[in-house]
Amino acid sequence: MTQDVSRRGLMLGGAALGLGAATGFMPTSASAKAPFSALQVPYYYRFPVGKFQATIVSDGPLPLGEPSGTMKGITKDEIGKALTENFLPTDSIVLEQNVLVVNTGSRLIMFDSGMGTSKAFGPTTGRLLRSLRESGINPAAIDDVICSHAHIDHVGGLASAKGKRYFPNATIHLAKSDYDFWTDEKKLTGDLKAFVIHARQNLLPYKDRMKFFEDGKDVVPGVQAMFAPGHTVGHSIFIIKSENKSLAYIGDTTHHQILLTEKPRTEFAYDTDPKQAVQSRLKVFDMLSKDRVPFVAYHFPWPGVGNLAKQGDGYRFHATPMELVKIPPAKKA
Ligand SMILES: [Zn+2]
Repeated sequence: MTQDVSRRGLMLGGAALGLGAATGFMPTSASAKAPFSALQVPYYYRFPVGKFQATIVSDGPLPLGEPSGTMKGITKDEIGKALTENFLPTDSIVLEQNVLVVNTGSRLIMFDSGMGTSKAFGPTTGRLLRSLRESGINPAAIDDVICSHAHIDHVGGLASAKGKRYFPNATIHLAKSDYDFWTDEKKLTGDLKAFVIHARQNLLPYKDRMKFFEDGKDVVPGVQAMFAPGHTVGHSIFIIKSENKSLAYIGDTTHHQILLTEKPRTEFAYDTDPKQAVQSRLKVFDMLSKDRVPFVAYHFPWPGVGNLAKQGDGYRFHATPMELVKIPPAKKA
């Protein structure tokens, strides 16, 4: 009680001394009707992986529309029930685009690159360069861009519509099978036309800077590739290791934390080979859950970092709590 009284006394004293004006919090009659803010927090998040520093930068949300159009082998009612039980809207699913950047101390590596100039999924995508700027990362400082596959929402942010390279000093890493499939001129007239146009627009400007990784081999020191085909012919995941810590980057192994994760045998309309994608998904999920490896899922709710645990004949995603006061490891001198 005594303490309360003395604290109030101090506050009153402070106001009398003009401290309110100094801190900018002087109450005025106008502030009672302050306008709603149009500002949101910057779209990046930083955390350590051993001696490495990871940053998730967003390319913005990607609305995929009514889910029964993209999920196969599951009824509309089952989808509705699963979404409702998880307090999610049933009329449209919105995917995040969590681009992972890893600073190893000697290299700056980005995984995938977002939609870039394409507005095929609406105006909220294409935010990558802005998010990089907000996070203090200079695109010219990026040494490597490692792509999980060559779909529009993963390689779309590499170059401008005129073919200007946004990452002028980067080597682009991709599975050769995916490069060949999605830049194939013969597919410019078929169903996959839009995807092929954008893969060509973004990958061909780096023709002399392409490097093709192999299954089970290091892409760059500290990052190992693992083929996980089906979503595309060369779709791959990556294991990042520093000291005794690991982080997996799983690209499009799953697109949704509930629908394709709790029921992992569900097929996805954008898969090149949906049956093979299910097999790869089960294999990757088994590894992540058994070894308790934390991972980044490109399309999971922001920032997409967490773990998987076995649940019945599916898996449950456990998001890692964000730590906003932890100081990232110091930069090497
Ligand atoms: Zn994707």
